[in-house]
Amino acid sequence: MPHAKLTDRFGRTVNYVRLSVTDRCDFRCVYCMAEDMTFLPRQQVLTLEEIARVARNFVDLGTEKIRLTGGEPLVRKDILELVNEIGSYGLGDFAMTTNGSQLTTMAEPLRRAGMHRLNISLDSLDAEKFQDITRTGRLSQVLDGIDAAREAGFRGIKLNTVVMKGRNDEEIPELIEFARKKQIDISFIEEMPLGEISEHDRGLALCTSEEVRDIIRRHHELIPATEDSGGPARYYRMPDSPTRVGFISPHSHNFCSTCNRVRVTVEGRLLLCLGNEHSVDLRRVLRGNPVTDDKLRETIINAMDLKPEKHHFSTNGDVQILRFMNMTGG
Ligand code: SAM
Ligand code: SF4
Repeated sequence: MPHAKLTDRFGRTVNYVRLSVTDRCDFRCVYCMAEDMTFLPRQQVLTLEEIARVARNFVDLGTEKIRLTGGEPLVRKDILELVNEIGSYGLGDFAMTTNGSQLTTMAEPLRRAGMHRLNISLDSLDAEKFQDITRTGRLSQVLDGIDAAREAGFRGIKLNTVVMKGRNDEEIPELIEFARKKQIDISFIEEMPLGEISEHDRGLALCTSEEVRDIIRRHHELIPATEDSGGPARYYRMPDSPTRVGFISPHSHNFCSTCNRVRVTVEGRLLLCLGNEHSVDLRRVLRGNPVTDDKLRETIINAMDLKPEKHHFSTNGDVQILRFMNMTGG
């Protein structure tokens, strides 16, 4: 079995893959989706076996970390079969990003199937605001899900909050207190211009990580964490709590030079960069005749040459990327 390292033209090693397992979701978050979405027809979506095959070949090429995402990964039928399969590959890190709506029943089975860590999205602790932002979500369900995840014994749980001015920026201190009380980490994310939305003006709603840090500093000392997350988040600690606070700042902090990741959409498009359209169609290889793992690995290795040096998001809210985050795999 080859153990080649995946390296791009800029000397970056790619050892982290985010796999989208569905474009569907039970929520319709205002920054992520339009209210009225059309989802992909089934034949365009990779089967669980095809997704596992992609994962296995990435692992053969040196991938150490896989994250399952979507859409909402837990709405994919039989998702536990895929988690079980990938959980058996001996990854250093196996994680999922979820909206938490199904964790009361799914947290324990996910943990047993080999999932190490969970990121759970939580944009508000106010039931009405939560529903306003997610359009269809129920806060109590997600809060119960967070507790279920804590009881299941994951290696790590992190909350993800997309901050929007005039919407949930006033809740930042409360969200910090919540994370501290639950002894879990929290990351604040700047909204990215992915997909056309009419619900709000992204330029006006943008709350930069700098602004979020200033708000938190009114209540807590933030000490830059020394460890490297290997990702776009910059982490801080507070002197009196194990909770780490992360900031994902595609606008104000360009993290491209250390980018170690690629994404595979549920249609099998290997995306080399979140903020660019460079991609390679793996589904064509997966459904070719004959399908061989050699061909799949060769395609993946060659795709690394397409990885762009950096993304160029502007802060005025203009959409540069037409795909929504649910298609991209957040
Ligand atoms: N459904 C799951 C969830 O919400 O956690 C996983 C998929 S979701 C697309 C992954 C992450 O992307 C979530 O934390 C969500 O808040 C974030 N996200 C979605 N659209 C975004 C956007 N336009 N800008 C920044 N973050 C976004
Ligand atoms: Fe669904 Fe996650 Fe997008 Fe919200 S952010 S609509 S939960 S995929």
